[in-house]
Amino acid sequence: MLGCAAVNCSNRVDKGYKLFSFPKGKRGTKWVDNMRRDKWTPTISSRLCEVSIKIRI
Ligand SMILES: [Zn+2]
Repeated sequence: MLGCAAVNCSNRVDKGYKLFSFPKGKRGTKWVDNMRRDKWTPTISSRLCEVSIKIRI
């Protein structure tokens, strides 16, 4: 099951949250910047939940 990649966030698909894959290009880069995770890059299976996206945009 997929879970949110944001720090301190444990929202998962099986808890009823929507999860989104990282967009390509500038928008995806902005998501990563806003996550403030050191030396972290999203993988093909990385997701952010709807809650974390709202906080970060
Ligand atoms: Zn989240």
